[in-house]
Formats: sequence, C-alpha cells, structure tokens
Amino acid sequence: MKIKDINKIYDTLNDLYDFMSTNTDSDTSGVREEMTAKVIEAESILKNERSRLYLRNAKAKIKRERKTISGVGLMSKAESLHETLANCHPSIARGKVWCRTCGREKKVDSVESIRTGWAKCCGYTMTIDHPDTW
Ligand SMILES: [Zn+2]
Repeated sequence: MKIKDINKIYDTLNDLYDFMSTNTDSDTSGVREEMTAKVIEAESILKNERSRLYLRNAKAKIKRERKTISGVGLMSKAESLHETLANCHPSIARGKVWCRTCGREKKVDSVESIRTGWAKCCGYTMTIDHPDTW
C-alpha cells in the first residue's frame, strides 16, 4: 500500500469517527461504542503502517543517494543524507523528543541529532514518539 492510500483511508476513518461521535442519539445497544473502538484500532494500525513506510522510503532514498556518492563532495553528500533522514518522517522533522521515564520534553535539532546522537534523559535515549502514542 502507498502512503497516499493509507492517508485516504485514515481520513475516511477520521470522518467516520467524527460522524459517530457527533451522532450519539438513541443508541443504547453499545454497538456505537464497539464500532468506535474498532475505528480507533484501525487508525492505530494504519498509523504504524504509515510510519513503517516512511522509514522504508527514507532508507530506499538513502540507498539510491549512496550509489551516487563519489570521493569528491562526499561531505556535502553526507550532509544531504542527514537532512533527508531528518525530514523523512514527521516525528523526526518536528525536532522534539520525550523521556519515557520522567516525561521531560526537549527541543532538538534533528539534523544534528542524527549526526551526533539523540538526547538522553534518565539514562536512556529520548524518544521521537509523542507521549500520546505510548
Ligand atoms: Zn527523564
């Protein structure tokens, strides 16, 4: 599946979710709640699949770019690889990381972090995943 297809389905599920949460009258059977849970589950599966694709596409792009690397201009090429990776995924590009232990949020330079390593807190590398997704 392509990312744009995933986004389309995701949008549809979102609309469905909105529709279901704004049309709450006269349902006492619990079906709506059950369906809402299913929609949320489907959305989370799609989110994971989308993240996987983003990373796979980024890796493929880097592979292609690696092939074009020659001795001359190696540094600038490496630089562009860092930027490609830093911008490959919204979670990386937003430049924020969180500590899963104490919850601290920290602003980071994604390009720099990819180059030199990600920030640490409480003894562990901080995560690019927003706390809502834990
Ligand atoms: Zn911490």
